[in-house]
Amino acid sequence: MVTLDITGHEISHGVIESSSQLSYAYSFGGLNEATADIMSVCIQDFAQSTGATPRPASFFPGSQMFSPSCKQPWIRSMVNPADDNKSWSCWHPSFDATWVPRPNGAPGSGGADGGSQYCFVDVHWSSGPANRAFWLMSKGLACQPGAQRRGAPEPIGIRKACDVWYRALTNYFSPVTDYYEARTSTVKAAQDLFPGSSKEAAAVAAAWDVVGAPDSPDGNGPRCDPGFAIDSSACPA
Ligand SMILES: [Zn+2]
Repeated sequence: MVTLDITGHEISHGVIESSSQLSYAYSFGGLNEATADIMSVCIQDFAQSTGATPRPASFFPGSQMFSPSCKQPWIRSMVNPADDNKSWSCWHPSFDATWVPRPNGAPGSGGADGGSQYCFVDVHWSSGPANRAFWLMSKGLACQPGAQRRGAPEPIGIRKACDVWYRALTNYFSPVTDYYEARTSTVKAAQDLFPGSSKEAAAVAAAWDVVGAPDSPDGNGPRCDPGFAIDSSACPA
C-alpha cells in the first residue's frame, strides 16, 4: 500500500508538524488534513515534472490504491468533497464548535452512535473546503462551462498554487489557523510571491469565495457555490 499519493500525504504531516504545527482538531485540524492532501498533489506534480512518474497529479487522494473499477476509487475528492457523503464542500461554522446539533441526514458526523444528536466534524471531512479551494485555484476555476461569464479569474496552475500554499504554511499558518486566516494567509502569500501582479491573488481569493470561506474574522463571507466546477472532465484539455 506504499503509493506516492499516500506517502506524500503522510510525510507532509511531518512537514506541518515541523512548521506551522496546525492543531489536529476543529477547523485547524481540517486545514492540517487538507494541507497533507494538497502537499501530496504538489509532490505528485513534481514527480511527473522530473519524469519520475508519467502519472499526472490526482485531485482524488488515495486513488493510486484502488482499481478504477471500484465504486469509489479514491478516499477523498478535492474536486467535489461531498461526493463521499461525509466531507463538506462548503465552509461551515460548526467546524469550530465543540458539540453541534446534527440535522437529519446532514453529512459530517464523527460520532460512533449514528443516532446521536450531537457530533464533532471529523478533520478528514472538514478538510473539504480547503481541498476544494486548492483544486479551484489550481485548475477548477476554468473547469465550469460559462465560468468566464461569471467573471471567474483564470486558475494559476498546480505549481504556483503549491508555492502559495507552502509559503502560507511556513510563514503565516499557526497552530490555530482557521478558515478565515487560511484565506487571508494564502492571499498574502500570493501577493508576496507575485508582487505587481494581481491575478494570482485574485484567483486564490476567488477559490475561497466559491467554498464560502469567511472574509471577515466574525465568520461572515461569500455564499458557497457547492455546484461550481465539480466535474473535472469539463476541464480544458
Ligand atoms: Zn492525514
